[in-house]
Amino acid sequence: MTTVAFIGLGIMGAPMAANLVTAGFDVVGYNRSRAPVDRLVEQGGTAADSVADAVGDADVVVTMLPDSPDVEQVALGDDGILAHAQSGSLYIDMSTIRPATAVRVADAARDVGVRPLDGPVSGGEQGAIDGALSIMVGGEPADFDDAGAVLDAVGSTIVHVGPSGSGQTVKAANQLIVAGTYQLVAEAIVFLEAHGVDTDAAVKVLAGGLAGNTILQRKAAGMLRREFQPGFRIDLHHKDMGILLAAARETGVAIPFGALAAQFIAALRAQGHGDLDHSAMLKLVEQLSGRA
Ligand code: NAD
Repeated sequence: MTTVAFIGLGIMGAPMAANLVTAGFDVVGYNRSRAPVDRLVEQGGTAADSVADAVGDADVVVTMLPDSPDVEQVALGDDGILAHAQSGSLYIDMSTIRPATAVRVADAARDVGVRPLDGPVSGGEQGAIDGALSIMVGGEPADFDDAGAVLDAVGSTIVHVGPSGSGQTVKAANQLIVAGTYQLVAEAIVFLEAHGVDTDAAVKVLAGGLAGNTILQRKAAGMLRREFQPGFRIDLHHKDMGILLAAARETGVAIPFGALAAQFIAALRAQGHGDLDHSAMLKLVEQLSGRA
């Protein structure tokens, strides 16, 4: 398998597609706006003018799109992936979408002989650039095995977690942990600043103990400097908390901290901060503490 169609060349998709080129795949890129496609061509990829154009000769199709309706349109639409992909090809959706939508797309794929995997990722923009994403994959084990080389080119922790839709369920749990951890790191930073502590030193020692976590290690320094360019947009995390709360409700699971974190993210978005990085959860803690 050598030709990979890559649709959705945004913050995550662009570096992932570039890593596939570096790994030796023929990468055909398509994006709604043209500039990211031109950048991929400069990196050794090929441009496509439409979804149909991108997927027609592909052995593997990858999508990295914002939300469930985008995936539905691009995969299931009249001129979409399933209308044009080769029978027997793999279709890996790496976007974060609703588990139920992933199952519906997978069923539609199987109906036309395309082999579906849901493979949402964690690791952020830096993980995408480094080819070091964590990838949680739902689908048939044999299809997961066949996708190995493509997934290896963009990720470093790649785990099959169950049938179609399972990858998205695990990703929803990931977003619960990430949102809650951001909130606690933000509260710790505002607390430390209010006490006049050397925050660089504090973050360093906290990161080495039981409180250590990836957000403290990778994102706290930017939070201390109030650098909130995305990264991962508040708008997208708001989408993910909606997915999480709906999925928790469907199974009757109470996630009170998750619900609270979802409200903080919703409030930031309502204040017009949807385009900031999710580390901007710090802003709300500052406001609540009268320190904005
Ligand atoms: P993004 O908005 O930067 O990129 C999405 C890209 O898809 C854009 O380039 C957009 O032009 C393109 N697009 C949208 N609709 C399209 C269509 N119909 N046809 C072709 N192209 C289309 O978003 P992102 O940050 O790269 O995130 C992509 C997905 O990955 C989301 O589901 C997000 O939740 C998830 N994710 C993001 C991060 C992160 O840190 N940014 C981390 C893990 C997972």
